[in-house]
Amino acid sequence: MYLIYSLPLLMLWGRPTFAARWTIDSGCDNVPFSQRSPLNAVDELKKAMAEAITMAENAVKVLNEHADDEHVSGMMKLIYGDGNDYQAKVDETKRILANVAGFEKEKAGPGPLDQEWQNTMTNNDVMIFCSKDRFKPKQGSTQLMDTSMNNKLFSASSFDDDKLRGACYKTDYDLNNVNEKKPTALTTPSDLFDKKKYNQDGKPPDMSPYMVAQPKVADTIDICPWLLHRSAGRGWPRIDKDQITKTQQPGFKDGLSDIALPVDGLVDTGYTLLHELTHTKQGGRTIDTLPADRPAGAESCYGWKCVQLIKDPKNADNIAKAGMALHLWTMGYHVDKDGNVLNK
Ligand SMILES: [Zn+2]
Repeated sequence: MYLIYSLPLLMLWGRPTFAARWTIDSGCDNVPFSQRSPLNAVDELKKAMAEAITMAENAVKVLNEHADDEHVSGMMKLIYGDGNDYQAKVDETKRILANVAGFEKEKAGPGPLDQEWQNTMTNNDVMIFCSKDRFKPKQGSTQLMDTSMNNKLFSASSFDDDKLRGACYKTDYDLNNVNEKKPTALTTPSDLFDKKKYNQDGKPPDMSPYMVAQPKVADTIDICPWLLHRSAGRGWPRIDKDQITKTQQPGFKDGLSDIALPVDGLVDTGYTLLHELTHTKQGGRTIDTLPADRPAGAESCYGWKCVQLIKDPKNADNIAKAGMALHLWTMGYHVDKDGNVLNK
């Protein structure tokens, strides 16, 4: 019976069953923001996804073929240190980036709320949203249901301005204030949290054993409207020669916070998606290292400076920064300790 069911499925999809799919909600072609007209971002997000997946592919190739190159190993040692666990950390990085490279390069046909997608999605697939319209109130409850995720429940307070989801969808940011703390995007696993068992076990610090996989529900990535409007305002930068040349100018500080280094100035929507894709089930469920787990001096878990302090392939930005640095190597550059992007 298993074979009878799986054969027509294979033929129907016309692709290897291991390739993870992604789709973009049509709300990304109508992204609101205060004092600006709504934005069409679907085409740019498609390009950004292709950029993210290409970066991951290139990085894996470099680690397979040029791991001993002085700049390649030099950059990886900045990110992971020179200890006994160096090779294990590089191998884990390669594994996660290879998983990200396992996403289809092209967007799937149907949108996330289309029946066709809803009927065929798996938890290796990803749905990209730019609005919170899919969250609907649950009758007789204060909770909201994510209608794209089989009505997964969210507390109404998670949409408060001071919570991640609320902050992501605030539309009154000052786009020019680079030090304003705000999320750029957030990935939500489709896994359900077994709160009852977690409470019974005395709420241990590691919550991951209490996540229950939902094989037929895709993860979501929310892209925060302000990020898209800022990228549009800058002409949708990509990680290309033009942008790299900008970071090489003395005094380059375009859009950088106090703790950021020149290479962090290359962070675009493609890079942001690479970071988010490492959080997905397909990518490997990386985390953003919590303040209590960060070494002294790591003000955040993002950026070239912080990843050198954290040195952990479980931290999403370590993987994404490794991916970007190795991609830059294929373009003829390398990155030094101070985040300078240098010609090879
Ligand atoms: Zn993250």
